[in-house]
Amino acid sequence: MRIIIMGPPGVGKGTEASMLEAQFNIPHVSTGDIFRALFRTDDPIGIEAREYIDKGLLVPDELTNRIVETRFRTEDVHHGFIFDGYPRNVAQAEAFTKFLNERNWKVDTVINVDTKDETIIERLSGRRVCPKCGATYHIVSNKPRIENICDNDQTELIQRKDDKPETIKNRLEIYHRETKPVIEYYRKAGLLVNVDGSGDIENTHRQVLKIIGDLKW
Ligand code: ADP
Ligand code: ADP
Repeated sequence: MRIIIMGPPGVGKGTEASMLEAQFNIPHVSTGDIFRALFRTDDPIGIEAREYIDKGLLVPDELTNRIVETRFRTEDVHHGFIFDGYPRNVAQAEAFTKFLNERNWKVDTVINVDTKDETIIERLSGRRVCPKCGATYHIVSNKPRIENICDNDQTELIQRKDDKPETIKNRLEIYHRETKPVIEYYRKAGLLVNVDGSGDIENTHRQVLKIIGDLKW
């Protein structure tokens, strides 16, 4: 199963992709997570990417496409994947299609989760993450068992720097300008399915499971 989950920042792509990964044992690939992991280990790519991430800007395509290609050197993703946060503009979508075509692979479906900007802002500003394992929580809708402590490893949760109000505004603008055209790109390719992301986490998950259940794979 080869899936791309698209949608505005904070709609719940990562949350949904993690649930699918756990349920179907298919690797969840988030370019944002890869950049943050590289930054934590002082890798020069991570340090360069951080300059863009903290401002809410897209990391240049050349760097982003390169980390995706590098991820494909590990064989687990050859058998299936759930991409989240990539591709984020039409140039990346074209590069990814070319990359997959060269290997005779194709995406089965592109799931576009969407909701209104007001909800997005609420979700992003209440997001808290574990700096150690990357688990994601929300101060209202997805609380850890103990306030501000990760369920998995008891680390204190933090707020991502790019989840501060000034940066959220930038990210939403970039989403509307650069990422939304990717929806059209996949619609034309006949791969797009829409999911209403305005309900709770379970509601989104139910809709996605229905889509996956309808796939022939
Ligand atoms: P969110 O989960 O809020 O959508 P991500 O973790 O996917 O955020 O991405 C965080 C940041 O990492 C983005 O704002 C951007 O700076 C960078 N990034 C992630 N994926 C890409 C991509 N495909 N192209 C360019 N930049 C990216
Ligand atoms: P994305 O990967 O799209 O940026 P996340 O999965 O990180 O989004 O979710 C953003 C925030 O919203 C997190 O704090 C998460 O716990 C919370 N969240 C995710 N899905 C929902 C939902 N359907 N309803 C309410 N909160 C949600």
